[in-house]
Amino acid sequence: MKPAIKSFVAPHRTLMGPGPSDVNPRILQALSQVTIGHLDPVFVDLMDEVKQLLQYAFQTNNALTMPVSAPGSAGMEAVFVNLIEPDDKVIVCQNGVFGGRMQQNVQRCGGQAIMVQDEWGSATDINKLEQTLKQHPDAKAVAFVHAETSTGVRNDAKTLCALAKQYECLTIVDAVTSLGGIELDVDGWHIDAIYSGTQKCLSCVPGLSPVSFSLNAIEVIKNRRSPVQSWFLDMDLVMGYWGQGTKRAYHHTAPVNSVYALHEALVILQEEGLESAWQRHAEMHDKLRDGLEKLGLRFVVKAESRLPQLNMVQIPEGVDDAAIRHRLLQEFNLEIGAGLGALAGKVWRIGLMGYGATQRNVDYCVDALSQVLK
Ligand SMILES: *Cc1c(COP(=O)(O)O)cnc(C)c1O
Repeated sequence: MKPAIKSFVAPHRTLMGPGPSDVNPRILQALSQVTIGHLDPVFVDLMDEVKQLLQYAFQTNNALTMPVSAPGSAGMEAVFVNLIEPDDKVIVCQNGVFGGRMQQNVQRCGGQAIMVQDEWGSATDINKLEQTLKQHPDAKAVAFVHAETSTGVRNDAKTLCALAKQYECLTIVDAVTSLGGIELDVDGWHIDAIYSGTQKCLSCVPGLSPVSFSLNAIEVIKNRRSPVQSWFLDMDLVMGYWGQGTKRAYHHTAPVNSVYALHEALVILQEEGLESAWQRHAEMHDKLRDGLEKLGLRFVVKAESRLPQLNMVQIPEGVDDAAIRHRLLQEFNLEIGAGLGALAGKVWRIGLMGYGATQRNVDYCVDALSQVLK
């Protein structure tokens, strides 16, 4: 039987969860342009510009800076499969869901993950990492999440990297939610491998993962004992496609229109300026915090390690989590995030990311919550 399915029409939501965030209409317009060939010289020039714009966003001169053609999880995987080989020891700092995924990646590469655990909602303890580095002088890398989206915690990337470098470890950083929302300085902080996503503070459509590797990291990749087990994510092969100049070898077909979108998202970031974008996120967070606290909602994370772009608040006693989120979606077209893992049903996660980090969204969210919590 032929199904009688009609064209899909997306509802207009206000996205204030953990991502995707509201996409700037300029980006949607860029996305909807005609598709061109991925080896067209015009597209090759566009790829070069995306690379330069990403270098700006990450604050790096790393030549190996590009978007992996798949979501943030693929960027994570690209970093681990290229750098980690069987029997490598990697110290993984975990204080939420995404640190746990780093652990799984290390293990699937045949490596040994040495865990530094901190409570969900607290920042990674520098002293614990130092203890662990002392106990494991043969560790190859230290990996951690800069902006833990599952809890709204900011880990002190600069200090964690400086410590890892004292012990001559590679530094691997998850910047999926941090890029464009809070200060990030890949070269200044000595980050060797980093991955991000498009749908959080860049406010672009989901599906690409910007990554960057230092010369140090490239050296490690070149000296691997075994080939990278993933064909698609093998950086040696991908570089033949995303590398400098016009002599590009076909590797896979880039998601052409998504690359238009990322280009526009990064042009918007460049126009605003990194520091101004960070400042805007901080200011909107302050306003949202004041509004939520007036409603009697309490933040879980200590002020000094809170992320402006991801606000985790306790659900008040006796309030039905799912019912409230359902009403917000149905009556206000407003999406906020639920708690993950042990925090499910106990917290809400309210995102203020990129294009969505505005006074309008702050007011809309506080007003909607005040009505449904009455
Ligand atoms: C969203 C997120 C990811 C995964 O990104 P996807 O694009 O969903 O694959 C990884 N790490 C962190 C910290 C995230 O917030």
